[in-house]
Amino acid sequence: MREKNDWRLTNQLAYLKGAVLSWRRYSLRPGGSWEHDHCAFCWAKFRAEEDPRILREGYATPDEYHWVCKTCFEDFKELFEWKVVA
Ligand SMILES: [Zn+2]
Repeated sequence: MREKNDWRLTNQLAYLKGAVLSWRRYSLRPGGSWEHDHCAFCWAKFRAEEDPRILREGYATPDEYHWVCKTCFEDFKELFEWKVVA
């Protein structure tokens, strides 16, 4: 549930409002120099490798620059008016 003045909300409205998101499996970026990303809201970690404590799928922008975990997606989808594509 999203709360008033939710701690997860910082300035994401500036870059994620109305964003196009798709559900995808996290994978390493070709030539990428880092091996994980974080949810843009709660900072849950996404990694490509097998680890039950870590998220391996989530909602991502087309460039896979921003990731949103399922919980935060559900909590913020109305506020952010995301468009979800397959
Ligand atoms: Zn999250």
